[in-house]
Amino acid sequence: MIKQEIHITLQFDLAIGKVNLNEIVYRLNELQNPLMLEILKIILMGYDDIISARLSRTDIYPSRARKGLGRHIRKGDSENRFCRGRKILKKGYRSKPRQISTVFGKLALPLRRSQCCNCGARYSPLLSALQLSRYDRRESNFEHEVIEAVIDTNYRRLIDGRSIDISLGGIHNIVVGSDIDETFQKPVSVKTLSGILADGTGVKQYKGRKGELRAVIGITNKGRVEPLGSFTNTEWSTIERTVKERIKEAEPYNIPFIYDGEPGLDDFLSEGAETQRCTWHGPRGLYHALWEDGLKKKESEPETDKIKQLIGIELPEGDFEILKEEDKEQVKGQYENSKSEIKELIKTFREKGYKHGSAYLENIADQLFTNIELWLKTGVIAPKTTSLLERVFREIGRRLKRIAWGWADKTATNLSKMIMIRQYSRDKWEKYWKHKLGIKDYFHIEISSVKLSPGTHF
Ligand SMILES: [Zn+2]
Repeated sequence: MIKQEIHITLQFDLAIGKVNLNEIVYRLNELQNPLMLEILKIILMGYDDIISARLSRTDIYPSRARKGLGRHIRKGDSENRFCRGRKILKKGYRSKPRQISTVFGKLALPLRRSQCCNCGARYSPLLSALQLSRYDRRESNFEHEVIEAVIDTNYRRLIDGRSIDISLGGIHNIVVGSDIDETFQKPVSVKTLSGILADGTGVKQYKGRKGELRAVIGITNKGRVEPLGSFTNTEWSTIERTVKERIKEAEPYNIPFIYDGEPGLDDFLSEGAETQRCTWHGPRGLYHALWEDGLKKKESEPETDKIKQLIGIELPEGDFEILKEEDKEQVKGQYENSKSEIKELIKTFREKGYKHGSAYLENIADQLFTNIELWLKTGVIAPKTTSLLERVFREIGRRLKRIAWGWADKTATNLSKMIMIRQYSRDKWEKYWKHKLGIKDYFHIEISSVKLSPGTHF
């Protein structure tokens, strides 16, 4: 650690008896980013000087003063191995400063050049000390702000007022280049989940091509979203394999898998979970089936209303263990009654010749009460609709529509992942960025004094 001070001189004119508070704040606000850019530049240039001094004056500085400094690739090494040489000759500055996008705006950073006394390679020691690669043109706080802005759909605000010019293409590259796809792959324990949901939604992609965004989420016992994966134009079988790899559970899960009846999902996670048809989609599906049988809305409405009522069993609130037996009995009675009434309904449909209607009901009948059965067996209150996932999709869709026309699979996938994790696992999101930024207490700065010098009156 080394202690240094920055001395800043700010000059201001103040019209006595005329200026108001708002104008002072307004101008100070304008000064924020340029001031920070200047401070950043002076800190980095000072650091560059220190590094160069330590690497060039090996007669003054012991080798431990060069620890972490002077890493470079050996000149002409075909395998890009590092050189062990830690002594340099100073070779002045690069002809052009390095342009780096930062949260404060574009930084034009002059860079010292040096030559290794061991291998003769020319390099800029500041870059490797700052952990910047030869191609890095931005720092990660900036990337963070860009992504946050995309998620909040106000990336204009990001650009306005700063000398940053980032195009849609630039944002695209940041989203595609993100490592979000490789992170958040830790195994998920099903014990913390009360249900798993899967669904898909259409997205517009490159040149108006229509794509399908698919997502699988878990609902935790506390009702929170645990993203299990999002995919663009991927087969459900592939998605199932990926999700299974994250759920490393030997025994059956004892939780429902909820879906809206999409054929590709009929056997999804069927070895582990119990299938539950979304009880919100059930009546809608029946309406559609009866419509195929030739029934008008007015004619099918009593039937769909009946189904709505039959599957709308509410579970009592409170702890399962301390519920009175008669409360459990009441639910059980409703459940058995509903099941037999649905059987009756199927029979009636058959008699009336509603082929589609009866087939549809028969198909979903065993998957409508999974959450009730689970509750009766274990007391766990599981979700019974895909509504939470639909809300997630609406949020993703709104953002994709806003800025993502013409985006590729990888972009849509990454962006939807980011939105889900940011919106529903905020703590994990923060941790991810802190790790990415590498905040380790290696730099501290504080304001030690702000004083006013007497000025000239006129
Ligand atoms: Zn070298």
